[in-house]
Amino acid sequence: MRVSLDIVIQGGIIVDGTGSKSKFRADIAIDQGRIARVGLVDEDGDVTLDANGFVVTPGFVDIHTHSDFPLLQNRKAESSVRQGVTTAIIGACGRSCAPVNDETKEFLLKDIIGYDARLPVTWHSFADYLAEFEKAGIAQNIASLAAHNAIRIAVMGYVERRASRNELEEMKELLHDCMRSGAIGLSTGLAYPPGSNADTAEVIELAKVASKYGGIYSSHLRGTDGDFLAGVKEAIEIGRAASIPVHMGHLCGFFGNSIETQRALQMVTEARAKGLDVTCDLYPYLAGANPLMAFLPPSIFNHDSSELVQLIRNPAERKELVAEVEHSETGTFWLTRLETLDHIKIFDVVGSLNVRYKGKTLWEIAALKRISPIESVLELLADEGEAMYNLGVICEWMSENDNYAVFSQAYHMVGSDGIALAPYGELASFKFHPRAYGTCPRVIAKYVRSDRVLSLEQAIHKMTLMPAQRAGIIDRGLIREGMRADVVIFDYERVLDKSTYEEPSLYPEGIEYVIVNGQIVVERGKHTGRLPGSVLRHQSKKPM
Ligand SMILES: [Zn+2]
Repeated sequence: MRVSLDIVIQGGIIVDGTGSKSKFRADIAIDQGRIARVGLVDEDGDVTLDANGFVVTPGFVDIHTHSDFPLLQNRKAESSVRQGVTTAIIGACGRSCAPVNDETKEFLLKDIIGYDARLPVTWHSFADYLAEFEKAGIAQNIASLAAHNAIRIAVMGYVERRASRNELEEMKELLHDCMRSGAIGLSTGLAYPPGSNADTAEVIELAKVASKYGGIYSSHLRGTDGDFLAGVKEAIEIGRAASIPVHMGHLCGFFGNSIETQRALQMVTEARAKGLDVTCDLYPYLAGANPLMAFLPPSIFNHDSSELVQLIRNPAERKELVAEVEHSETGTFWLTRLETLDHIKIFDVVGSLNVRYKGKTLWEIAALKRISPIESVLELLADEGEAMYNLGVICEWMSENDNYAVFSQAYHMVGSDGIALAPYGELASFKFHPRAYGTCPRVIAKYVRSDRVLSLEQAIHKMTLMPAQRAGIIDRGLIREGMRADVVIFDYERVLDKSTYEEPSLYPEGIEYVIVNGQIVVERGKHTGRLPGSVLRHQSKKPM
């Protein structure tokens, strides 16, 4: 008996993900989770979608996300899948929810982005953690990096020192375990603790382990203390010493420093010319969003929020805190220099005393308060009280031209550095950067349609085949017969990111259908509630 096709997509304009082939008109047949045919399909499917006037592309692959924990809180991956992201790479920037053990668990929980005690961490190994996603399903596919911070915390806790020989051996053992369980590589976050306590040699040793399994090395580069180029140089050095492909997360100079951006691109180009496989990602926004607390040295976090409020209110102790911040690396870089203070703006406040500072820079606020910028920051936090961890700032540290320069590199791909969030339920109060809801639509709307920095084919390539290949995923990222059926259908003229810094939780427009593993997850712009996503484990070369 002839069984009909599951889905037929009729009459769309196909942009196939290769980046080299021009768009063409074709129908697509999807059957049993795979693309069964591309060309003329004249039979009907169980579902037939009329794509006349729409663009049809492979599902987007987001090479850089921090959905590690929030995706378990809301498995529908709302803000991500509605952009068209069918596969998200988690475990970026050294951060993950595994491995974890009972002795050091309290430290790991502090390192997990968006950790919320309502969802207890019950797993231990990386394999157990990945299995959590499969227990109740997820709306999009995920693949994960093994994260340096998580591994380091599991072995050493949250300490500010180099690893001993034995500790390094233990870390390598844990990394072997992650890689055997399907990690696609190793990620580090060397700009902040605990990763920043590692020297280059520690990372090289670990990267060698990931390399044996055919993994990549992905890094949030060292350099928050201002030495951005040293971070680029170090990543290249690690790549060479460990013979491993290097991926640099959100590669861009700070504060519109075009000379540094140009120099970084030059260094990557030179390394590539010498045979090292280096790529990078960057999102299509000019500002980052952080909690204000991120600009304080780690020693501050030894106090809980009520203790900190007391210390700040007490003049003598406040003086000590100011000195502590002043003499820390992070404080010196962020909170004592006009060019940085003038680019950090308060936007998310709840304390009534602070509402009047919304939209002002740290420099302006200090001037209004007539105290030093460091004291002013401490006072802002004290006035927020319990909510101090949520006091959000926007850092306008990139320039449009620098972003364009990075986006025009063939080795750049789009990575949101975002999180799968939702404007309802447990994630409703999680206010983040607009990139969590808008990255992919913004690339199409701004970089392709309005600013014409990229062709549509190039932009889609940077969001599909290129990141899929980087993550070692061989059967996604292309519209081609036999590939897994992850597909996006969008209205090119109408596609638009709606999320802003002020209102970050708005879904985009114009993304009509999103199909994951042959099942419709977004239908006419609405989530269907289906959870067809898979955990993609790296098909690694077995180590010798
Ligand atoms: Zn990141």
